[in-house]
This record gives sequence, C-alpha cells and structure tokens, in this order.
Amino acid sequence: MQPDAPGDAPAEAPVRAPRRWSDSFSKGAPKAPIWSAPDPALAAAGIEGEYVVARVRLVAMLLLLISPTYSLLASRGEDPMHVAGFVVTLLAAGVSLAIFFRLRNGAWRPWIGFASSAFDVTMVSVALTSFFIVASPLNAINSTVTFEMYFLALVATSLRYDARICMVVGGLAITQYGALWAAAVASGNLTAVEMTMRAGPYIPVDLFTRLILLGIATLLAVSIVRRAQRLLYLASRDRLTGLFNRGHFDRALVSAMDQATRDKTPLALALIDVDHFKQVNDGHGHAVGDRVLEQVADLMGRSMRRTDIVARYGGEEFVILLPNTTREAAFHRIEALRREISDFPLRMDDGRVLRIDFSAGVAATQADGPIIDPKVLVDVADRRLLAAKRAGRGRCFGSDNVA
Ligand code: GH3
Ligand code: MG
Ligand code: MG
Repeated sequence: MQPDAPGDAPAEAPVRAPRRWSDSFSKGAPKAPIWSAPDPALAAAGIEGEYVVARVRLVAMLLLLISPTYSLLASRGEDPMHVAGFVVTLLAAGVSLAIFFRLRNGAWRPWIGFASSAFDVTMVSVALTSFFIVASPLNAINSTVTFEMYFLALVATSLRYDARICMVVGGLAITQYGALWAAAVASGNLTAVEMTMRAGPYIPVDLFTRLILLGIATLLAVSIVRRAQRLLYLASRDRLTGLFNRGHFDRALVSAMDQATRDKTPLALALIDVDHFKQVNDGHGHAVGDRVLEQVADLMGRSMRRTDIVARYGGEEFVILLPNTTREAAFHRIEALRREISDFPLRMDDGRVLRIDFSAGVAATQADGPIIDPKVLVDVADRRLLAAKRAGRGRCFGSDNVA
C-alpha cells in the first residue's frame, strides 16, 4: 500500500465512469426490475415450492372430490350442476396426480411454475364455466366457494418465488373471471326472477369488487416474492462490501464441487488477502479502511464473470470461486485482477488517493489431483496464499513449486 498525494493518479491509470450501480449494490438489496428472473438461490426455493404446491394440490383435490361425489350420489346423477361439479373436480384431480408424479420423477422445467399455476387458475374458471352452462350465468358469476379458490391459486403462486408468475397468473384470473362476467351479460337478462331465485341477485358493483380483490391478491403475492428476494439478499451478502458472505460461499462451494464432480469439469478457487492492510487502518483510520475494502470489492465484483462467485471471506480476505475454469486460466485471471487493482487509484472521500495490492493462492480440481472435498481445495489455496506472502507479497501463486 502506497499513499499518493491527492489527485496524483498517473496518466495511464484507467479512467472509470462513476459507479452509480455499485452504490446500491453495496448498501442494500439492489432494486431488481420487477420483470426479471429470480436469482439462482430463489429459483432453487421456487423448485421446492413447486413440489409443495403439487403435494398440496393433490391432497386438496382428493378432499374436494368428497363433496361433489356425495352430491352426485345423493341426487342420483339427476342434477346437472352436481354432475358438472363432479366431472370438473375429477378431471382436476387426475391432472394433479399426473403433475405430482412427473415432478417426483424429476421432470421440473423452468416453465413449469407458469404452466401449473395457470392450470390452477384455469381449473377454477372451468368449474365456473360449467356452472354457466349447466345451471345459469348467474350461478357462475355469483359463485362463492368456487370463486374463492382463485385466491388459493394466487397465494400459491408466491411459493414459486418468481414475481413474473404472480403477475401473469393474477392477470389470467382477472381476465378469465372478467370474460365470464362479460359472457354472462351478453347471454341475456340477468335480472330474470327465476334465475335470481336460484343464484342470488345480479349486483355489478359486487362483481367489480371481486375483480379488485383478485388484483389485490396478485399484488400481495408479488410483494411476498419481493420480500423473500430482499431477505435472501440480506442473508447472503456482506453488509460492508455487498459481496457474498462466508455462509453463502460455503454453501455455494459445496454445490459447485458436486456439480464439477458430476460434469467432470475443473473448479478453481482463489484466496486473496490484501497486503499490509493494517497500515491503512493505522495510517488513515478505520473509515478509510472500510472505504478501501468497498472499492476493492467493487473492482473484484466487476472484473469477474457472472458465473464466478466473489465473496468476502472475512476481514480483508476475499475468495473467488471459478466454475468450469482450469487452474492455469484461473491463475491468469487472478493475476490480471491483481494488476488491475494495484494500478487503480482508490479515491477517498477527502480526495486522497491510495493504492493497494494483494497476495493470492489459486487451487483447482483436476490440476491439483482428484479433489472432492471442498475443504481440501480451500486448504491448498490457503497454503499457496501463505507462500505468496512469505515470498514478498503482491503476487499470486498457482502451484507449490514457485521459486
Ligand atoms: P498482511 O500483508 O500480512 O496480510 O498484513 P495485513 O496488515 O493485511 O494483515 P493483518 O492480519 O495484520 O491485518 C488485517 C487488518 O484488517 C486488521 C483488521 O483490523 C483489519 N480489518 C479487518 N476487517 C476490517 C474491516 O471490516 N474494516 C476495516 N477498516 N479494517 C478491517
Ligand atoms: Mg488477513
Ligand atoms: Mg492482509
């Protein structure tokens, strides 16, 4: 670390645009666009959610079959409304069973969340349509119990942890129920006495309120997903730098190692320790030390690929996981990062400019033998980091035989 005079950046120092996005990145959860795919951790939770919904749907459909079966037997199959109720519920139970077994056999696909929640909402509309046909349009649009199933389907969309699913399926429920209402209006006189005797009065303002309630349920489902996104962000990030924290890194390392072993691809890991960082704190104060860590983390986050996992390992130590990267390629990437950081003038709030360097140790599966234990990979990188420190700092070691 060499302190420079204010504004003393050499002519060749890279000139960067102001890092607007990095501010939001490090200070709290970034505002992801509402129409964006969930991040990988949330997507994994969404897959589990899909299984939960499949199980609940199956149990619910079997329980829901009890009432139409009883009504069908009690009316000896003479009431068309009961027959329709039974057929629709049986059909839905059959599809629920098929979805459940397909998911159990590992048939999950990224579009399944959209398809299965659209199915849930559409089954409610199909049931209402059957009332429309076999009973009366008013029976369909005034239905209470069946209509409320829209809300169950909308709440369940939030278990997929994808705000796009909540919005699409909420829109679908509003459109389908609205279309049913329009069809009922088009079908004729909704105030006919014999129809209102059986299905209650036609009150447009109540039906409009139902559409509003479906909209509110959709917004709530989106809010649940956004909250989950934010909580997950806070739980997996380091407060100061906005990089992933140690806990998240440890979990990511285990799954990346499993993946690399399965796919027979190399997995590289770099341990990085900022050189003489104590001098920054001692010479300029902890606040400046914090600012340096933020800027270094920012440079690391920007320089690595989207698939790399950059985490704060603790204090002034960082760790980078490079999936599908050989040890040699990882060594060159970390050495390039080191040069970029050591060349970069770190500007403090008071205008002072600091420079820092780091030492690093790189290890990788395959090149370092058949490693399957994540701890061993970290230990090998740590040993090389220590060797880099002993050899004088400001360097990266990618093997044990470096002179
Ligand atoms: P070496 O080149 O051997 O790594 O020397 P060093 O000074 O970097 O290492 P040392 O372990 O002696 O000191 C690390 C310092 O990092 C001590 C600690 O106070 C400081 N540190 C750790 N976490 C933070 C933090 O979040 N903010 C600040 N400002 N300092 C921190
Ligand atoms: Mg250290
Ligand atoms: Mg250090």
